[in-house]
Amino acid sequence: MTPNASKRSGTIMRGIGVSPGVAIGPVMLLQPETVSVFDRPIEDKAVSSEIARFEEALIATRHQIREIQHTLRGQTHSHDASIFDAHLMVLDDRTFIDEIISGVRERKRNIEFVVQEGTEKYANVLAAVDDDYLRERVADVRDVGKRIIHNLLGRETDKRMELDKPHLVVARDLAPSETACLAGEQILGLATDLGSPTSHTAVMARALSIPAVVGLRKISTTVSVGDDILIDGNKGVLILNPTEEQLQTYDELAEARRSIEVSLKRLREERAVTQDGHVIMLSANIESEVEIPAVLEGGAQGVGLLRSEFMHLGQNRMLDEEEQASMYRRMAEALMPEPLIIRTLDIGGDKCFFDVQPFQEENPFLGLRSIRLCLRYPDYFRQQLRAILRASVVGNIRLMYPMICGLAELEQADTYLDEAKRELDAEGRDYDRSLQRGVMVEVPSAALIAPALAPKVDFFSIGTNDLIQYTLAVDRGNERVAYLYEPTHPAVLQLIRMTVDAAHANGIWAGVCGEMAAEPLMTPLLLGLGVDELSVNPRAVPLVKDAVRALTHDDTKVLAADALGGLSIKDIRARSRGLIESVAPELSDWLA
Ligand code: PEP
Ligand code: MG
Repeated sequence: MTPNASKRSGTIMRGIGVSPGVAIGPVMLLQPETVSVFDRPIEDKAVSSEIARFEEALIATRHQIREIQHTLRGQTHSHDASIFDAHLMVLDDRTFIDEIISGVRERKRNIEFVVQEGTEKYANVLAAVDDDYLRERVADVRDVGKRIIHNLLGRETDKRMELDKPHLVVARDLAPSETACLAGEQILGLATDLGSPTSHTAVMARALSIPAVVGLRKISTTVSVGDDILIDGNKGVLILNPTEEQLQTYDELAEARRSIEVSLKRLREERAVTQDGHVIMLSANIESEVEIPAVLEGGAQGVGLLRSEFMHLGQNRMLDEEEQASMYRRMAEALMPEPLIIRTLDIGGDKCFFDVQPFQEENPFLGLRSIRLCLRYPDYFRQQLRAILRASVVGNIRLMYPMICGLAELEQADTYLDEAKRELDAEGRDYDRSLQRGVMVEVPSAALIAPALAPKVDFFSIGTNDLIQYTLAVDRGNERVAYLYEPTHPAVLQLIRMTVDAAHANGIWAGVCGEMAAEPLMTPLLLGLGVDELSVNPRAVPLVKDAVRALTHDDTKVLAADALGGLSIKDIRARSRGLIESVAPELSDWLA
């Protein structure tokens, strides 16, 4: 036990778990590196040499960033390496560079000061934008600005942290290049004051497979060197100087989780079939091509939801038709013969992308998002449809429109699809002439008119993340109303049932691709409601498969009928938990 262990022993703090797993160890406190930059006037004749120093520093900075990318690629963290593309874009931003050069010329101040001022100005503009994605770029801008100043001052950069023993890194926030320098075996996990699931710390931690908890608010000022901490990246919990009892509980928990996950690997080649022979299609949700190996390793039957907008967001630019077509094609070939369901662009709401949606709205979740945006400004949509069609020659691609609210939207979207087919015909390019296309049911109106939609499509995929938010009027990202966000609410269950019934009456299948599908606690209910497909994150595939294989369809039908017949939410959850625990006790730790 450490010298600090007696004070605040066992204090539990809650944040956001962004990378799963448990880590225990001593704290390494990463203080923000400060550089003192003085404001001093310069003479007229020094202006050109200050600008020349700036240009040299830009070259050195670009070189260092490329080096980091190169190192990461060599370590097979190729996805992390692309994060630094955003840094390179800052370095190539003409407005940023010109503003600094004219700052030196007009105001005759030293270059370090003008760079620091210019960086802050740039960062503040981004920070004020009501867009999570752009706000995340603030860290990139500051990181680049700091690096340029270091180079101007001739300071050493990218000192790799040499640790004699494994530590858990605690920081207010981590810049991407700091996280890259941390990569290595001595880093057990990360805990930060700031951050969100889309922050760089989260992205990098997941890619490096180290547990991480972000959004802990004051952790960097609460812990001191000499403290031990424990983080649980599944539950978003941090324990300061854990007691012997807590350590033992977590040791057992971590060991149990690990051994269950290992033993579930045996299910990789098995199908998701219930004890009484009812077959469920179990596929994976992914955001990019790098996740394809995880889909195959996890034993999913292809991809039930490719959130295609993330491929553009991840690159910080819109990919063109050619790039998209070859990416879709590579993914489809890797998954063959299992399907790749590509959801067309779903931008808006909390996924903002300035290039596509150059405006702000009061209520973005109720605004011009998703298919509405694509139909209003169809350029990118047309490009994507052509790319999907071109890649569809592989034979296992399916297309899915998000956020469909009514028949007219489906018809309009199909008009663009037909137009793209005609263009390809005229160009003599081939595509899958029986390409299946479906709609996501994620708005109550779509569920209510499911009998009218079903004859016009090949499948339904129920997006419960949005369906719950729109049915219960609960913003899915607002922690103040999170207690009202309830997948087992009878209204949600009714809408799922209506969608499934309409699908079956018309001979098509209905799946669920919202987070609800990834919770083993919900498996009995969804099976009982007649859902044919579950699409979940690759890590959850073995858990959900285990649940499906342990249940009997008849038992789940009884549960679903009772749930629709007026059971309280509390009772629905208790009955579902009881059912799963009786047939698959190994899953009890995953039954939130
Ligand atoms: C959903 O809404 O359930 C869904 C899968 O889409 P997203 O989470 O990307 O909005
Ligand atoms: Mg959605």
